[in-house]
Amino acid sequence: MEGIHRAKGFEKIVEPVRLTSKSRIKFQCYPGVPCFKLCCSELYLPLTPYDILRLKRFLNLTSDEFLLRYTEPFILPKSGLPIARLKMQDNEEKTCPFLGEAGCTVYEVRPLACRYYPLGFGLFRNRDEGKNEDFFYLVKEGFCQGLESGEEITVEEYRISQGIPGLEEPIFEWAEIIMKKESLGPVEVPEKSLELFFMVSTNPERFKSFVFDTKFLDIFEVDEKELVAIKEDELRLLQFGFKWLKTVLFGENLVKRRKESPSVKKVKPF
Ligand code: SF4
Ligand code: SF4
Repeated sequence: MEGIHRAKGFEKIVEPVRLTSKSRIKFQCYPGVPCFKLCCSELYLPLTPYDILRLKRFLNLTSDEFLLRYTEPFILPKSGLPIARLKMQDNEEKTCPFLGEAGCTVYEVRPLACRYYPLGFGLFRNRDEGKNEDFFYLVKEGFCQGLESGEEITVEEYRISQGIPGLEEPIFEWAEIIMKKESLGPVEVPEKSLELFFMVSTNPERFKSFVFDTKFLDIFEVDEKELVAIKEDELRLLQFGFKWLKTVLFGENLVKRRKESPSVKKVKPF
């Protein structure tokens, strides 16, 4: 534990080099490494909707229970959108709540950001080609002895070794919402829109109840097949939620409104 405490004094350098999936890095981390677990404290660890889904299932908790026990709200600095982040423990070292004696106790479902470390990742809009592209960068923290050790590998090989492919695709539209909001700059966002974004991003049970137990289906037209899928599969529900958010927040026509929908107060787009 003292080791984690010591880590506070080390320097952190984010290398100003944009890496691609083909870039080569040298990094090796394993349980016997002298700095083992030093990276799992004092973190600002944002959780994606898919992180929350996988963690709460693994821990056999409802989203409400998971959010209350392990997270705190966090406002994304560029977009101003609210998400959940892991709440560090209230001990001197501010350790991650999932850090155990032998390491990560939720290793199989550890968040995306943990899998990427020491890489950071981001998405940007390539306006010339009209598509989104991802990029990576290296975060060098003084205590991490895995940097510059082991064989040289590509970023993509590292991603595969950490089980990352397949975890980002389901939240791609969610990341697009954040990027779109960032591109609008500091516009004031209606409170209701922020609440809806937070609900879809963190709480599938609440969103499911919002879809099936309110007037939602009187207002929006969802085909029978999709309705069955979102009722049975929380990941499909999430993905439907992202499409719906884009519809109500940005006016994209991804979920159709019924022509004769009841007169309800509409959410103001951003
Ligand atoms: S979730 Fe696991 S890997 Fe991530 S910070 Fe916590 S203990 Fe470390
Ligand atoms: S090598 Fe780096 S990532 Fe691995 S345990 Fe040490 S500090 Fe953490």
